[in-house]
Amino acid sequence: MARKVLGYIELVWTCDSCGTRNPGAIKSCTSCGAPQPINVHFERVDPETFNFIKDEALIRMAKSGPDKHCPYCGTRNLADAQVCVNCGGDLTIGATSRPTGILTAEEPAPIPEPSIPSTPSTVQTERKPIPKWAIIVIALVLLVCCFFGTMYFIRMNQTDKMDATVSSTSWQRQVALEAYQLVRASDWKADIPFNAQAYDCQLRYKYNSDNPTQNSEEVCGTPYTVDTGTGIGEVVQDCYYKVYEEYCSYDTMQWVVVDTLTENGSGTDAFWPTTNLGTNERLGNSSERYTITFLASSDSYEYSTTDYNLFQLAQPGSSWVIEVNGLGDVTSVNPE
Ligand SMILES: [Zn+2]
Ligand SMILES: [Zn+2]
Repeated sequence: MARKVLGYIELVWTCDSCGTRNPGAIKSCTSCGAPQPINVHFERVDPETFNFIKDEALIRMAKSGPDKHCPYCGTRNLADAQVCVNCGGDLTIGATSRPTGILTAEEPAPIPEPSIPSTPSTVQTERKPIPKWAIIVIALVLLVCCFFGTMYFIRMNQTDKMDATVSSTSWQRQVALEAYQLVRASDWKADIPFNAQAYDCQLRYKYNSDNPTQNSEEVCGTPYTVDTGTGIGEVVQDCYYKVYEEYCSYDTMQWVVVDTLTENGSGTDAFWPTTNLGTNERLGNSSERYTITFLASSDSYEYSTTDYNLFQLAQPGSSWVIEVNGLGDVTSVNPE
């Protein structure tokens, strides 16, 4: 976010000793003469409006850097002063510069950066200590979950070997049919393939920037005042630019899935779907799935695989040894 300086305004400070309000540029109290303390708090003269200073000398002073306090008498001196205006003390060693950048009071907070979606502020709820019985219940629940989880895991890994015969088989093979056709796509104009013709372009918000660009919109927060350390306030505004870019439609040639060819069967001899490919057509991705149904001690078990060689051995009535886990899933099959 860029910080824009709108101008400079006079500030006031209140004397700690006698309570008099003094102009910011006055370095000792106009009433009692006490030097302005280093931790002085500046305020705006009028919190409602900004009366910008037109005096070039004052503005130069505001830009010259924070004033420094005399190490001997505490009097505030200009940043480039060598000796104290009050006591003549040497300011080159031991002088303390005033802090800068402090927001004056009664200012609205600067706008938060709107570019990054801020993470939802977590509401701090009062944390009550968890009662003992709740801890015991949670522990018990965890224990029970652990027990059943372990049982499940054991049953899943526990397999039974059994003799089985093939009762039936089925298969499915699929191939995607693709055509090379004109497809309407859309993208940022800069990212469109150079040989494609862009149309229906519209300006769309793309990102935030600190600097203006060709199509950008300035967004600024509420102005606020910053202490320059000289008794003069700098009125600034945090701004950023919403950048818009052209988003267009374009036509491009692409391979597109236009159909899925499927063959099914129940024997052990599977075949691929065939088709007469037209011009600008091709076969795309293919998939195969073979299912063998076994009968073992009057229970039926299904086993699916993509291994066609194994599937071809599954002649109806043939004898196999299958392994079944505790959940009833067939984990391996071997012809006898
Ligand atoms: Zn005073
Ligand atoms: Zn001094």
